[in-house]
Amino acid sequence: MRVFWLAAIVAAVVAAALWFTAAPAPGGKPAGPVATQKAATQAQEPARPGPPPAGVPVLMYHKIGPEAGNDAVIAEARFAEHMEYLHRHGYRTLSLTELEDYLAGRMELPPKPVVITFDDGYRDTYEVALPILKRYGFKSAIFVLLNDSERYLTWTEMREMKAAGMDVEPHGYTHRDLGAMSPAQQAAEIAKAKEILDRGLGQDSRYFCYPNGSYDGSTLRLLRENGFRLAVTIEPGWVKRGDNPLLLKRVWMGNGVDLRNFEARVTRENYPIL
Ligand SMILES: [Zn+2]
Repeated sequence: MRVFWLAAIVAAVVAAALWFTAAPAPGGKPAGPVATQKAATQAQEPARPGPPPAGVPVLMYHKIGPEAGNDAVIAEARFAEHMEYLHRHGYRTLSLTELEDYLAGRMELPPKPVVITFDDGYRDTYEVALPILKRYGFKSAIFVLLNDSERYLTWTEMREMKAAGMDVEPHGYTHRDLGAMSPAQQAAEIAKAKEILDRGLGQDSRYFCYPNGSYDGSTLRLLRENGFRLAVTIEPGWVKRGDNPLLLKRVWMGNGVDLRNFEARVTRENYPIL
């Protein structure tokens, strides 16, 4: 079906080009075979770039592995298929700093922009996802928990991930809902997470991911006070200029997202929710 339409459009463009060049120029000679040949050559040139992207799909992955029956765990083969699709179709991965620059009006989007994120800091983000991302030269971001019992990656691994183009940013100190805590408790969670990560990686963390997507007005104020510039939620949708940078939407990625649905999610702002 798609091939048919492409052929029909190309035929129509060629026909129109031939018609225009065949018409005699005012006061000049009628266009001959040379002009006809030139028009045909022009029709074969690549199409001009389309309209600027409507926004950025920020993909939200969690665990990668064989676990069945949990849509937050994606099979390695399916994840690899998603990344191969992005590579084959010329998608451009953005870092969180580039996403921040786009939202602030300091940068225009490249064609086919996408942001790849991983929540929770699982070992498989390092062991499974990173080699695939490196193969394509993709940038991405991982949001990690900072207390000892929920931090699954070593500092050496996190440094290696950073060096490979992965933003390593806080997902909180624990995975508890910030929106259910008092402002004082939230302040302690956010400050501790930032302090530990900044010390461990020698950075100034500026991007945050709400555990379970939970926040309230105090959370937003505390993030600003701690120097955070962007924060991602679990609300579905694309990120667009004009959005509140501390309430960015993301596109769910799980085993239910087959290649057909994946294509819809990265090509259409109003993709069908499963
Ligand atoms: Zn999480």
